[in-house]
This record gives sequence, structure tokens and C-alpha cells, in this order.
Amino acid sequence: MAREAEADRPFPRAAVTPTKVRVLITEGKGLEIEWSDGHRSAWNFAWLRNACPCATCNEERAQQGRKPGQPKAKPADLLPMYTPPAKPASAQAVGRYAIQFNWLDGHSAGIYSFEFLRRHCQCSECRFDRGETTGAPN
Ligand SMILES: [Zn+2]
Ligand SMILES: [Zn+2]
Repeated sequence: MAREAEADRPFPRAAVTPTKVRVLITEGKGLEIEWSDGHRSAWNFAWLRNACPCATCNEERAQQGRKPGQPKAKPADLLPMYTPPAKPASAQAVGRYAIQFNWLDGHSAGIYSFEFLRRHCQCSECRFDRGETTGAPN
């Protein structure tokens, strides 16, 4: 697919080099990164948990046809159950290229490289560029 080929294009170094990384655990908000090229990105914890890039989660998503960050479909015949929002207990840098979350559900295998995160920037502009939203960026 053309869109996938475009998504594989490498980023300039400044686009994947963070100048500021904030993990807003206490606020329960998510991850915020400011990049060397001046762009700012933010991801909420639910998106990050559903985008876990570890082999197991990748495989599970591939089987279910889900994109990174896309939640699992809930069975329609079950009563809706409260599931606590995904949140990490902690997060740490992995070398200079990635960040790792220790999720409260016990999962921590995913290494979120800065390139992966930038590729999936959730700002309205980037989502519009990737064709994930139909509305104009605001
Ligand atoms: Zn995983
Ligand atoms: Zn963006």
C-alpha cells in the first residue's frame, strides 16, 4: 500500500531526537515529547498500551487486524465491564533511542523507540497527514 511505503520513509535525525520527554504518570495523561525539529507530540497511556511494540502484542494486533494504538474489540454479548485506564507504574529511558513503560497490568516488554513514537505522533496535524482523520488539522 502506498501509505505504508510512505510511512517507512526514514525521518531526519532532528525529527526523532527529543529535546524534552515528559511522562505524566501522576496526572494519568500520557507521554509528551518535544523534538529537535520543533514539533511537539503527545500520546495518552491508553494509546501507548494498545500500541505496545513488543513481539507478542505485534502478533496479537496482526491477528486481529488492529493498528498500533487501536483498542481490542469488546465482545458485544458481554455486559460492559469497567476496565481501569492503562497507566504505567514507571517509565525509563532505554539508551538514547527509546523509552520503556512498566504497565500496572504487569506488562513491560515493549521498547518504544523515538522513531516509532514520532511515526505515530497523535497530534491532529500528523494524524491528518497520515489520513487517520478526515477533518482539517486545527
Ligand atoms: Zn507488548
Ligand atoms: Zn505531530
